[in-house]
Amino acid sequence: MNGPAPGTVEVAVRHILSDRTTGFLTRTRRITWKDSLYRMRRPTSGTQSVELICPVCEASLLAEVRTEARTRRTSAVLLVLAALSVLVFVAAFGYAVHEGGRTLPEGQSLPAVFPVSIVSVFVTFVAAPVLFARGRRYNGVTLLDAPKPRRRHGIMPVRG
Ligand SMILES: [Zn+2]
Repeated sequence: MNGPAPGTVEVAVRHILSDRTTGFLTRTRRITWKDSLYRMRRPTSGTQSVELICPVCEASLLAEVRTEARTRRTSAVLLVLAALSVLVFVAAFGYAVHEGGRTLPEGQSLPAVFPVSIVSVFVTFVAAPVLFARGRRYNGVTLLDAPKPRRRHGIMPVRG
């Protein structure tokens, strides 16, 4: 690991150069951008707002930086939620297969939890990978505001 020095975080200010969607039946989205690296110092407590200037268009972007401890906590919570989603997915999927595959006695309908398990399967199927990716990438830096030019910008995590 040769990540950034302790107490600092590296981010990339992403300036979107073009964002075009072409094609009719098969749509292709082509995005080009320019990333500029920034190293920011983390606050020792609370959160800190840092102004970053996009070197491409000189737009002023306001970022919020959290402490190392809080970043680690949030990241851990996201990963725990991802793990819980996997557990709920497995349980709900198993239940749905079990209940749905049963031959019911005449006049008996499926229990009310059955639709709940189906919904849970779909929700957790989407949520688990999203939460996992967020937890892995979370660096405690969020883009608060990008006022002046209305061109799109992003602050991307940089992995050490
Ligand atoms: Zn820019």
